[in-house]
Amino acid sequence: MADRKTSLNDLAAKVGISNVNLSNIKTGKISAIRFTTLNAICEALDCQPGDILEYQSESENAPEREACSECGTLNSVPYNFCKGCGKPSAPRL
Ligand SMILES: [Zn+2]
Repeated sequence: MADRKTSLNDLAAKVGISNVNLSNIKTGKISAIRFTTLNAICEALDCQPGDILEYQSESENAPEREACSECGTLNSVPYNFCKGCGKPSAPRL
């Protein structure tokens, strides 16, 4: 059985970028990647961009909500008027 594991150096050579850059891509230390680089990596690894890239939402948690003091309706913060009773939100300091 062929060893499918490709070393970082081998991959970097195939893709045509430095293994430092490749390492940065792998560890998510970069904020941008060239499509040509992405294509080359996908070709070298026989995979899809989605196998390499992962979307991470800015906020991991659900949006902040605040219960209306008047009716208890949960409004997503910030809000101007309660969607339940129309009461203006308390001024935020
Ligand atoms: Zn309310």
